[in-house]
Amino acid sequence: MLLLHACCAPCSAAILEWLLNKDIHPTLFFFNPNIYPQQEYEIRKKELQNYAKSLNVDFIDGDYDHKLWLNAIAGLEDQPERGSRCLNCFKMRLLATAQLAVQLGFNQIATTLASSRWKSLEQIAIAGNWAVSSFPAIEFWEKNWRKDGLNERRRILLKENGFYNQQYCGCEFSVT
Ligand code: SF4
Repeated sequence: MLLLHACCAPCSAAILEWLLNKDIHPTLFFFNPNIYPQQEYEIRKKELQNYAKSLNVDFIDGDYDHKLWLNAIAGLEDQPERGSRCLNCFKMRLLATAQLAVQLGFNQIATTLASSRWKSLEQIAIAGNWAVSSFPAIEFWEKNWRKDGLNERRRILLKENGFYNQQYCGCEFSVT
């Protein structure tokens, strides 16, 4: 049973298609308190929620506590993207995913964060494996979600569905 941490519809669509085609039915966990401002958060959440509904995929809505996220990256605000701020950001989100997985009886977690070419696969793997390290009952699925034609499908599904065009990663420090 897979609990899939999901950051937005553009990053999730091809992964969901790939999983469902393989008869793997994940539950989505939208836990992204990094997104700022809240209006942007609501847009991304609503879009993914509607998309999940159209596919009949279960969706769990995580808390939005941006102050808690700011605490998690405190002192790293000025770091560049792909730097240590992002590693902490991934760790926070994936730890919450691992904790929820344990609570609800899932045995595997993964994240759609890994589909974006702007993010470091290495950092995501470090964060995911760190997140499950205290929970022997669950594993982090360290798949490269950019291979197996998934990058191409990402582009196609983005266009087909007319997803909201995000201009930055998510936090206020990534606004350009
Ligand atoms: S740039 Fe993206 S991954 Fe990095 S800290 Fe901000 S929201 Fe998180």
